[in-house]
Amino acid sequence: MGKKIESSYFTELALKYSRYNSQEIKISSLKNTNLKQIERKGKYLIWNLIGKNDYTILNHLGMTGSFNIYEKKKQLQNHLNKEKKNYVKVVLEFTDESSCVFDDMRNFGRFHLFSSYENLTNRYPAVAKIGLDGFNFSLEDFKSALELKRNKNKALGILLLDQRFVAGIGNIYKSESLWRAIISPYKIAGDLKHEEILRLSKSIQEVLNDAIIDGGSTIKNFKSNKVEGKAQEWHAVYGKEDLPCLRCNAKIKRIIQNKRSTFFCENCQSGKKSR
Ligand SMILES: [Zn+2]
Repeated sequence: MGKKIESSYFTELALKYSRYNSQEIKISSLKNTNLKQIERKGKYLIWNLIGKNDYTILNHLGMTGSFNIYEKKKQLQNHLNKEKKNYVKVVLEFTDESSCVFDDMRNFGRFHLFSSYENLTNRYPAVAKIGLDGFNFSLEDFKSALELKRNKNKALGILLLDQRFVAGIGNIYKSESLWRAIISPYKIAGDLKHEEILRLSKSIQEVLNDAIIDGGSTIKNFKSNKVEGKAQEWHAVYGKEDLPCLRCNAKIKRIIQNKRSTFFCENCQSGKKSR
């Protein structure tokens, strides 16, 4: 990240396809822009480049697309010379000698340049409907998602399950994230204070990443790869109705929000004093 583009081009092969050769922006315009970040949105990667003009790229790996990153120019040359050169669609070279090559054997991938994110979502409206990546999102993006008209009046116990808000939070992690953040599931998204937004954004990412490390939650008899997940061992509230809260010892409560169970501690998650 932060690398500056020295040259950027579609290969001759790519230009045989209309989706590469009929773009709003010439790929050579990316020269001298800096790669700010690559954001994952569902199956799409959104590249943000900043410079004299800012650009946004919609990238989809399709079924067979892949990226290769090289540190040295020689490695790039080797890649371009070898047998698989017929798969190369996009080449980006950076000022520090490193490079990035997009290969796509079966041509289902996309590498589409736009002058703004708005133009991108006009062309690909589905992208705008995909929520933040629950495993990794910025506080800034989380805050703006909370402030969206369709989100700000919703109770968090309902909103956290909406995949257009944050993708990847299931029913278990909804309850766990709120408990960790010490926030009531009844709390309305638009009413969150800055401190609460900070805590919630952190706890969602922590909970989802902990779940991966532990092999995911096991629900009833569901088994994945024949190894039962150990995640339920660290569940603080999910499935623990009437058991003591690990933080304040009050009884965990189960409520129904939008037909789904929410588990929480009415004592400490409501901002009341711990006992
Ligand atoms: Zn509690």
